[in-house]
Amino acid sequence: MTARILIMRDGDMPAATVERVLVRDYAAIEIVGGWAEAQQALAGGAFDLAVIGSDDDGARAAACVRALRCDPMHEALPVIVAAHFATPDSAALAYAAGADAAIGPHPDTVLLGARLRHLLRNQALVEELRLRRDASRSLGIKVVAIDEAPLPRRLLALTDDGKLAPDLADALTHAGFAVAVGIARPVVEVAAPGVAPELVLIDAARVDPLAIAARFRQIDRRRPVVIAHEARDPFRAVRALELGLAEPLPRPLDPGATAAAITRMAERHALTTRLRRQYAQSLDLAVTDSLTGVFNRRYLDAYFELLARARHERALPGAAAQGEGPFALLLVDVDRFKDINDRLGHAVGDVALRMVAERLLGHVRTSDMVVRIGGEEFVVLMPGADLRTAETVAERLRAVIEEKPFALGPEPLRVTVSIGVAEGAVAPAELLKDADLALYASKRKGRNCVTAAAPRAHPALAAPAA
Ligand code: GH3
Ligand code: MG
Ligand code: MG
Repeated sequence: MTARILIMRDGDMPAATVERVLVRDYAAIEIVGGWAEAQQALAGGAFDLAVIGSDDDGARAAACVRALRCDPMHEALPVIVAAHFATPDSAALAYAAGADAAIGPHPDTVLLGARLRHLLRNQALVEELRLRRDASRSLGIKVVAIDEAPLPRRLLALTDDGKLAPDLADALTHAGFAVAVGIARPVVEVAAPGVAPELVLIDAARVDPLAIAARFRQIDRRRPVVIAHEARDPFRAVRALELGLAEPLPRPLDPGATAAAITRMAERHALTTRLRRQYAQSLDLAVTDSLTGVFNRRYLDAYFELLARARHERALPGAAAQGEGPFALLLVDVDRFKDINDRLGHAVGDVALRMVAERLLGHVRTSDMVVRIGGEEFVVLMPGADLRTAETVAERLRAVIEEKPFALGPEPLRVTVSIGVAEGAVAPAELLKDADLALYASKRKGRNCVTAAAPRAHPALAAPAA
């Protein structure tokens, strides 16, 4: 695999077996001899994962991880701490510092391999989300203010260890989680818990935790689910990682270490959620007209491209010809808009455009899309609409704009629009041309009216039946 991994050695940690696994599976390994060198390496290159050795009970590594997490550049870097953990408390310390996994000197090598792949997959996802966000930003989109995704806090802990349950609940509550503790029961009985938990912990000895986990993942694939596995039996943990569950924890669960590990998972989950949101928001901005809030020209172009591709794919030999519904669009142009600007000023003209957009939006179906393609011109995309329907909608839109004068100046302003309608399975750009000609006819007829272009033959209907 082509992942860049940084190993920081401290005495004999990470153990030689750990290094062997890393070197065997990954080509780009950089080994440094201490924290100063590690800092230098981190500043110089983009790593996908770091393994920080600690020739003590992990305290030295924890300090390094804490320092590393202070740099926003490395907030998402997966970090494994390899130490001689003497007690669960020292592992808890590593998690609290920001480590994603804690391993001892003799980890199971199969499980270690699975953990590495799991952490690297997560890292690749974070990188992909960052890339997409940045790509959409670089389309000329304003930078989205970072809105902090709240840490997921509602946690459902299922355990069949009655002695552990109260301590576990205490530790998790102390860490700030709203905890519901239940008894791990066979799959069927776990159906829908009252309030949807954001994180799930399953500690089950008598039933298969993976089966219960699968149940929760069915409802929400992104929800972190942690299982506890027998330390002697890493098989379940490997399966859990392969299934994309969160980092599994060894049984018997230590309340403090569990709370620290789950807190770290929650932080990681919040980070990816934030990146996803930023991406979605910048995408929204990329395709939104900033004046009116409806879609913009870029959206129309992308939509047309997708539509053309979908039609092309459906037309390929072997693909069913059915399912190709009608498609209509309206081209709406404000009448004598230049006069409005001239009489009342550009700023009032802007408000008029917003009001036109609002009325259009308010009177189309939710599946229709309103796009501002330029100055005072709008397109309404109507998937599934035939020509008759489109004409009816166009007439309704024309009327709702004319009917109620706009309260914009000293006296109500009468605004009207002319509309061209086109329908057909031709190339979308052709359809837009048809609508433009129809619009031109509406203007010539005296404005404030609707004209439909002559319908184009529908290929699916025109083609002889096979
Ligand atoms: P017609 O009935 O033939 O469509 O006449 P019209 O005046 O609406 O058409 P024309 O194309 O001559 O003028 C459009 C005007 O729209 C000219 C331009 O200044 C104005 N305009 C374009 N974009 C904006 C904008 O974002 N805000 C404002 N206020 N005006 C705009
Ligand atoms: Mg115009
Ligand atoms: Mg106009």
